[in-house]
Amino acid sequence: KAEVEMKRGAEEKKSHLWNAMHKYNPNVKPTVAVSGEGSWFKDEEGNAYLDGVSGLWCLNLGYGRQEIVDAAAEQMMKLAYFPLTMNHQPAIQLANKLSELLGAAYQTFFSNGGSEANETAFKIARQYHQQTGNPGKYKFISRYRAYHGSTLGAMSATAQANRRFKYDPSAPGFLHVAPPYSYRSLFSGTSEEKDMRAADELEEMIRWEGEETVAAVIMEPFISGGGVIIPSMKYIERVSEICRKYHVLLIMDEVVSGFGRTGEMFGFKHANGIQPDIVTMAKGLTSGYLPLGATSVKAEIYEVFKQEGKDNHFRHVSTYGGHPAACAVGLKNIEIIEKEKIVDRVRQLGHSRLSELRNLQEHKHVGEVRQVGFLLGMEMVEDKSTKEPLSDSKMNEVVGACKQKGLIIGKNGDTVPGGNNILIIAPPLSSTEEDLDFIIETVKSVIRSI
Ligand code: PMP
Repeated sequence: KAEVEMKRGAEEKKSHLWNAMHKYNPNVKPTVAVSGEGSWFKDEEGNAYLDGVSGLWCLNLGYGRQEIVDAAAEQMMKLAYFPLTMNHQPAIQLANKLSELLGAAYQTFFSNGGSEANETAFKIARQYHQQTGNPGKYKFISRYRAYHGSTLGAMSATAQANRRFKYDPSAPGFLHVAPPYSYRSLFSGTSEEKDMRAADELEEMIRWEGEETVAAVIMEPFISGGGVIIPSMKYIERVSEICRKYHVLLIMDEVVSGFGRTGEMFGFKHANGIQPDIVTMAKGLTSGYLPLGATSVKAEIYEVFKQEGKDNHFRHVSTYGGHPAACAVGLKNIEIIEKEKIVDRVRQLGHSRLSELRNLQEHKHVGEVRQVGFLLGMEMVEDKSTKEPLSDSKMNEVVGACKQKGLIIGKNGDTVPGGNNILIIAPPLSSTEEDLDFIIETVKSVIRSI
């Protein structure tokens, strides 16, 4: 061990890798992962960890899936690369499969990840309104706490000031409204009533800004990175209704919630009768095996981009977007999800196993446990009556103690005001029952020790 440590020390001194997102601290050595199988990975010292956040909520089918690796390798041998300015079969097949899964006719543009999928959605929305006689509709509304990506437009939709202020000014035309966050809502009443007031606020914003200026609302069905916020489904239904009323497009960011994480193939399917105008996907689309983003638009919107003889095509291209190997991986990933009935599994085990963590709500530092499928957030507080967020140092202690015991869990980052006080557990959807028990026992024992 000492030898490895020394070797690593020397390598780190000459490391040119930029580990962003954390304050620089020369005494903290990031874990260097070398291999993985199922829900577990090993670092270079041979320590094994259960990956309780699926990498970055993407590794839905876990590490070491031979079928996915084979699908990528076979595709690379057959056709290593081809641009989507023309066509290739894996992209056509995957676009068709997405349309089937989304439950209506959708046309898909492929990119490389979630930020790019959302940027693409913004450009489609603006061009759509321009080409339907509403060129003034350019604004986007998102909710506080939401994360929609790191590029300039997606960052501007990301309504967490801490992620933006060093890079100001944000892109113009991005507005933010209160999320349906009943635990810390400014509204009163039952959870559902508070959520419905948040929807009213959104309507007010569209009215006051002028419906003729608003292009789209972008939302995750369940705010994930911003703290696992689980609204009443009536809220989502109401937002969809408001969007229709004011001719505002609804962009559903399914980057985290897509492909089974919440116990439905897509998060929006928990609500009744919702068919978003645009759906953005990444992460779980390939279970993280290769980078891929997708922006799927409803057929009625696509119509506006293909009128014969008009200069109204979508002037947008991505060299690597829809890479043949990534699309082949996406297809194999969906095939496995269907074959292994992953979505039903998540619904059942989420209910029968992972939900055991809800019992921790009785602990004095656990303000609220929120869960849907394999997406669980635990809001930690100093004191239940004041709801003062648990301090950063105690949060780091909890995450660190779990790691000591071989479990990686996450916490929402950089979302103050409100504190970085939400523990996040989002294990691979293929985790075994023993894996889930390990998560439950570890988290319980750590929390009880605070
Ligand atoms: N939307 C959501 C909801 C996300 O969680 C993320 C990534 N954490 C993104 C978009 C951006 O995806 P990417 O990092 O692939 O650009």
